[in-house]
Amino acid sequence: MRTLKNFIDGAWVGSHSASVLPVVDPGNGEVLCNVPAGCAADIEHAAEKAAAAQGTWRNVPAEQRIQYLFRMKRILEENADEIATLCTRESGKTLAESRAEIVRAVENIEVACGIPILMQGEFSEDVAQGIDEFVIRQPLGVGACIAPFNFPVMIAFWFFPYAIATGNTYIIKPSEKVPGTMTRIVELLEGAGLPKGVLNLVHGGKETVDAILTHEAIKAISFVGSTKVARYVYAKGTEHGKRVQAQGGAKNSLVVMPDADVATTTRIIADSVYGCAGQRCLAASTVILVGAARTAFTDLLVEAARTRTTCHGLDRTSQMGAVITRESRIRIEAVIEDAARKGATVLVDGRTGPVTGSAGGNYILPTVIENVPDSAEAATTEIFGPVMNLQYCETLADAIASINAGRYGNAACIFTRNGSAARTFRRDVLAGNIGVNIGIPAPMAFFPFSGWKESFFGDLHGQARHAVEFFTQTKVVVERWYDEWTRTF
Ligand code: NAD
Repeated sequence: MRTLKNFIDGAWVGSHSASVLPVVDPGNGEVLCNVPAGCAADIEHAAEKAAAAQGTWRNVPAEQRIQYLFRMKRILEENADEIATLCTRESGKTLAESRAEIVRAVENIEVACGIPILMQGEFSEDVAQGIDEFVIRQPLGVGACIAPFNFPVMIAFWFFPYAIATGNTYIIKPSEKVPGTMTRIVELLEGAGLPKGVLNLVHGGKETVDAILTHEAIKAISFVGSTKVARYVYAKGTEHGKRVQAQGGAKNSLVVMPDADVATTTRIIADSVYGCAGQRCLAASTVILVGAARTAFTDLLVEAARTRTTCHGLDRTSQMGAVITRESRIRIEAVIEDAARKGATVLVDGRTGPVTGSAGGNYILPTVIENVPDSAEAATTEIFGPVMNLQYCETLADAIASINAGRYGNAACIFTRNGSAARTFRRDVLAGNIGVNIGIPAPMAFFPFSGWKESFFGDLHGQARHAVEFFTQTKVVVERWYDEWTRTF
């Protein structure tokens, strides 16, 4: 069985740690390869080489640095089929979902290609007699990202194209559950010809993360994952003087007003809740039907859940794949059971055992529960599985109050034909990404990917101008030349 290697200073090298973890296809239980458990020595090696490379890389003009990104874009596009297949095998999602990830990754490369303009500073002439003042942006040094399992391709691209385009060097630490996809991507990206040490890949789990959080040379850390770990990463990283952005978990609500278009809204809601088997940080978990929307939508949503085809993501008929691990499946089943025991009604029960033709996979079919009491875990915590929690209320104000009472603030969406209701919603809801008649309000790469409350720790988000600010520090220069001095005085 192949054990994946780290990519450090332009070479594929084994981990300093001898222990390995299996990487498993969630759709059928097949072991695909092993990944090193990782250790601090791997990060020491990568950080030292990345720091050494940065001294030269920052002197390459921005306009030349982005030429590597143009090549990377072409490499991703030309190899999209292979990458999507790998991504599906490791993460369990469908091929269409894997392809969509690659598109989002490419979009971030495209935006980062605008760095020569995005990095431009500010200049004021004659702020006093003969004195000019200006702001320049300079890279921080070495950056690193710590990625979750649910988007094996896309998430590193929220960060590293901006980091390297602004003159930093970089270390990617993929999730140990899906490390093969990023390994293959880095292999392919070698074809872009980046200088040694500019882009590095290090595998591992907690010990590797802890080394990133404390290594002197690493100055900027982008984390995406669960809230518990995001909080830890933010606290420990900032304690060690790093700039940290930490995106956490979510519990997103969709509000359906009685005037919403029935057929389209039903389709969009089902896609939002069940896409990627509910394992998206922008996925809807709670669907709040306001007033008469209850009678118009409940049966249709139940029907949409019952008719979704669930099987291995490589099967072209698949509309939903497996959840990431057996533990994950057991946890989601326990959340459904807890809700039922506490009085919820399970309208569609996805706990049906193995899916035909995909024995050994971690499947839960689309599930719908209603009347979930506040005391049940399903009401308040992130489920991260294909479970729709139906809630009913009388007014939009009640729906907004219910959303705002939650711990998370990643996304919230409203479905309506009424502009005033939509405006109230987008203004008053405490969430960083808002959808109006949109089920997954994922910002395009030229907007920052927001997140509020316990869904985000930090100030600057990933993507676009926020990413440029995150990976650079400003220097203010106040300047006078001596001939001006003589002339003036
Ligand atoms: P996770 O928190 O378990 O793992 C994320 C990363 O942290 C991995 O690389 C892992 O190796 C590392 N890690 C895990 N435990 C650690 C620990 N104790 N100490 C240090 N490092 C540790 O998350 P996951 O299960 O891989 O991903 C799912 C979560 O990610 C969900 O909560 C989802 O909402 C969230 N997510 C959020 C966003 C967003 O934009 N807010 C996007 C995608 C996923």
